[in-house]
Amino acid sequence: MTDRPIIAGTRPAISEIDPASLAAWLAARGEPAYRMGQVLSGAHRADASGFDDLTDLPATLRAGLAEAFRFTTIVDSHVIGADGGMTAKAVHELDDGQRIESVLMRYAPRGAMAERTTICISSQAGCAVNCPFCATGQAGFGRQLTPGEIVDQVLHWHRPPWNALGDAITGHYNIVFMGMGEPLNNADRVFEAVRLLNDPDRLAIGARHITVSTSGVVPGMDRMVDELPQVNLAISLHAASDGLRDELVPINRKWPIAEVIAAGRRFAGRTGRRVSLEYVMIDGLNDTDEQADGLVEVARGWRSHVNLIPLNPTSGSRWSGTPAAGIQRFVRRLRDGGVSVTVRDTRGREIDAACGQLHAQLTGRSLREAREASAATAARVS
Ligand code: SAH
Ligand code: SF4
Repeated sequence: MTDRPIIAGTRPAISEIDPASLAAWLAARGEPAYRMGQVLSGAHRADASGFDDLTDLPATLRAGLAEAFRFTTIVDSHVIGADGGMTAKAVHELDDGQRIESVLMRYAPRGAMAERTTICISSQAGCAVNCPFCATGQAGFGRQLTPGEIVDQVLHWHRPPWNALGDAITGHYNIVFMGMGEPLNNADRVFEAVRLLNDPDRLAIGARHITVSTSGVVPGMDRMVDELPQVNLAISLHAASDGLRDELVPINRKWPIAEVIAAGRRFAGRTGRRVSLEYVMIDGLNDTDEQADGLVEVARGWRSHVNLIPLNPTSGSRWSGTPAAGIQRFVRRLRDGGVSVTVRDTRGREIDAACGQLHAQLTGRSLREAREASAATAARVS
């Protein structure tokens, strides 16, 4: 780790400890070198909830590890389920009381396609970009997340009782940076987290299974080409004219559509891979024929793919999502223009799974209170 801890006085997290520091710590205790591999693989096991579960290590070493390191940076989580158990969303509390969100989505096997799992994680507590349709943006910026805090969201779902990635990682899963925060405004730590996720001695998650979604931070997108060329890139476009995008994605005033698309094209050109253009459909605002034609102009002729997402209105939102017929009209216009397009399903709508919404709902309540309240509701329903 090149960074100093964001939270003063906290013990290093085992999920982000660098091998040299861990080796030095073990050597100072007179432990043999092979302990290093045991500790790292143990900390990433699907059946371990704490250092105490690493029973292949001597008890004194387990106790020493627990004193020196945090097994996870997450101090508490409140989880709620939806979609008949196929979606689960967590609000996690960190050491300094900041709260972040992550979501687990399971997809049943379909035809020749095996079961798949997607884990959506946060890169910052809050976000400074301030998109008016996004609950995270409305809540403002808290702080950057450390690499360990990012990895620990994946480990939360990997460990008991979720075991979402399975014991042997099969490859039928995706990690998406689509929770709270703008990942490329925290690029150094997000890139380090990706390298930790990739590490064969840790979770060994392939870069091609990871997607970074950005509101259009051009220098960060260019860094991805050089530093993480195997990671997928998604651009949150949401409007095809600068006037409208200035309002919907305010960072557009710094990097307007032409620059963001040029960076997307550089990424696609240099990596040979397709870039997603995310487009939240807002009734009567960005779903017009004019915007569709503008979108055709920017998406056509290069390796791009448009993902339409019906808006999940935040509480007190002045906007609603485009109705199904309007989405279909928009899709036809894009297809007629030669653009590849899909409509994203609205997973977890009933649990406010869009970015930052559950967190906003829990403001001012402890996670324990929230857990008790949802247990009481579940008891009343059953
Ligand atoms: N900050 C990054 C990544 C996190 S947001 C970005 O903006 O790309 C992940 C995705 O969720 C973005 O495409 C964002 O526009 C979308 N999103 C945010 N609020 C939403 C809402 N209320 N309904 C639907 N999608 C939303
Ligand atoms: Fe930030 Fe993304 Fe939300 Fe915009 S949509 S406020 S960039 S998290």
